[in-house]
Amino acid sequence: MLKTLESAVPVACWSCSVAHNDSTLFCPHCSKIQPPTGGDYFSAFGMKPHLNIDTDALEREFHRLSRRLHPDRFARASENEKEWSLADTALLNDAYRTLKDPLRRTEYLLKLNGAEIGEEHAGKDRKDTSRAPADLLEEVFELNMQLEEMRMARKMGEDDPALHQSLTEAKKKFDGLLEEVDQNLRAQWNTWDAGDEAARQGAQKTMVALLDRRRYLSNLLRDVNETLGA
Ligand SMILES: [Zn+2]
Repeated sequence: MLKTLESAVPVACWSCSVAHNDSTLFCPHCSKIQPPTGGDYFSAFGMKPHLNIDTDALEREFHRLSRRLHPDRFARASENEKEWSLADTALLNDAYRTLKDPLRRTEYLLKLNGAEIGEEHAGKDRKDTSRAPADLLEEVFELNMQLEEMRMARKMGEDDPALHQSLTEAKKKFDGLLEEVDQNLRAQWNTWDAGDEAARQGAQKTMVALLDRRRYLSNLLRDVNETLGA
């Protein structure tokens, strides 16, 4: 089940008692800092939980809030407020790092909606070719053989220009596949953001699969780069 993220819980400001939603860092009424929010990263920035976001606006809001949270501003504040400003700063930094990066943003939002993403769900041994995407099984098998050959050759202090050439071509191909995954992910963002529940569930499933494929390809490319660069 997808839970809705758009609803924030109303709470009363500790200082002026006026109600506001619990995801804001400062009271909209009296401007006093609030205890760490109960909301998600998007709401900390006053944004909707979407995958297409205005990253310039995100950056501006990050700097604006960081200035408001600066320790100098709390030099004469109560102990509680000092503590909250530190906690809010940590939250703001985490939120900004996560949301400005398209992949981390996608993973974060999908996880918020209950998706299981990451190494812990996909298995850790990246050399296990049985986990290779089905359409790439043969190529991955071939590539791993060549990587092994290349490592052996290096160990013996030999150079194998033909093998090097063939690995460089494989790298180009897998780079292209990675690029393709990113394009497909972005296409799913639009479906997600449109907000139709049924379509969203479909998009979520597709994105989880794309992220798994992407992780697999990235690990493979890291191996290729390491071997070529060794
Ligand atoms: Zn207030």
